[in-house]
Amino acid sequence: MKFVFTREQENFRQEVKDFVAAEMAAGSFTVDSAGLVARESREFSLKMAERGWIGLTWPRQYFGQGRSYVEKMIMNEELMKYQAPIGYHFLADRQIGPSLINFGTEWQQSFFLSRIVKAEKEAQFCLLFSEPDAGSDLGAVSTAAVEDGDVYVINGQKIWTSEAHMADYGWMLAKTDFDKSVRKHLACSEFIVDMKSPGITIRPIINSAGAHSFNEVFFDDVRIEKKYLVGKKNEGFRQIMAQMDYERAGMERLLQNYSIFDLLKKHVQKMSDEGENGEFYAWVKDQMAQLEIEYAIGRLLCYKNAWIIDQGKKPTTQAALTKAFCTQLEQRLNNVATQILGPISQIRTGTEWSPFPVDLAACYLWGPSYTMQGGSTEILKNIIAQRGLGLPRG
Ligand SMILES: Cc1cc2nc3c(=O)[nH]c(=O)nc-3n(C[C@H](O)[C@H](O)[C@H](O)COP(=O)(O)OP(=O)(O)OC[C@H]3O[C@@H](n4cnc5c(N)ncnc54)[C@H](O)[C@@H]3O)c2cc1C
Repeated sequence: MKFVFTREQENFRQEVKDFVAAEMAAGSFTVDSAGLVARESREFSLKMAERGWIGLTWPRQYFGQGRSYVEKMIMNEELMKYQAPIGYHFLADRQIGPSLINFGTEWQQSFFLSRIVKAEKEAQFCLLFSEPDAGSDLGAVSTAAVEDGDVYVINGQKIWTSEAHMADYGWMLAKTDFDKSVRKHLACSEFIVDMKSPGITIRPIINSAGAHSFNEVFFDDVRIEKKYLVGKKNEGFRQIMAQMDYERAGMERLLQNYSIFDLLKKHVQKMSDEGENGEFYAWVKDQMAQLEIEYAIGRLLCYKNAWIIDQGKKPTTQAALTKAFCTQLEQRLNNVATQILGPISQIRTGTEWSPFPVDLAACYLWGPSYTMQGGSTEILKNIIAQRGLGLPRG
């Protein structure tokens, strides 16, 4: 096996690098926050849209550029290392677009895809999947979508909905077959919901880092036209499974806190310059080398996903493996950084005592969520064991 980037791919990487450097030099963003894809700036997304960098991999007939997933991985790697504020379009680009291309109607494709690639106003999405009693077991959703003439009437509750308070549309899984003899995985459907619809109430949940990212979303007799049903009725679960691969395959699972690693390397170099060479420093070097090894592995896992998708194959097991590995690595990074820096690591940014311009304390507090969102590590291991290794269900 020979793993190298082509000249065109290297040129593209340089183009993205130059763009990121120019944007940082112009002050359009700084590397100073913990949340990666939560950082958003529509102006930044508009600049990416002008370059054709939203919908990069979507076929041309769907308003995309028809380029490879490897190129998209290259682009995301260069953007994410520096926490470029791509949150406005990121989710829609990563999984809403591909889902609409696979399952959407002609109207849905033309209406939504054209807006997403241009980062137009009102093109931001959130994911309305989890419920208080349905997280890992998504088939157990109980939010009901009941047909009433030309509309579906939605009643129920979603939870942990990231950025629901910012989103224009929600991509929702709801129950549509209430016959108890029907298997739950064959009883739900996917919808697009206008988040401004009457009957929707959004309540913030503040996480342990003090951030408002999650929400609870309540639906009381929300009426949505039937044209917002995505794909086939009662096939929502199957459709979502395809979507989850995109959610788990990308560089965002590796690079959410990369800036911490970058700064830590500089800090350790400074320790060495200042003559540190005792037992603690030996441990520090060992930890840093281990992190470097694991980052190299995580990067290869991400690129392999892209390569698999470019072969027209599904990366389900590989994507599960990538997310399980990379998110645990990110937690280890925060632990190691906290141990190396000591108590000062707990000071949040914004004071003269903060160790880094990047908020390590916030990264540490966000850390546990990395291995829950988008499929917990246990669920991913189930996928690897059953689908990857062909082991029987326990
Ligand atoms: C930062 C963050 C952002 C999120 N954003 C969104 C969002 O935008 N939209 C959305 O819909 N949801 C979102 N979620 C919710 C997320 O998808 C769920 O937290 C996740 O699917 C787990 O579901 P749960 O919280 O109900 O936990 P549970 O499913 O109740 O799991 C609890 C524990 O039991 C384990 N477990 C469960 N089933 C099994 C099993 N079969 N085998 C072994 N172990 C098992 C799990 O691994 C976990 O450790 C977000 C979560 C986080 C942390």
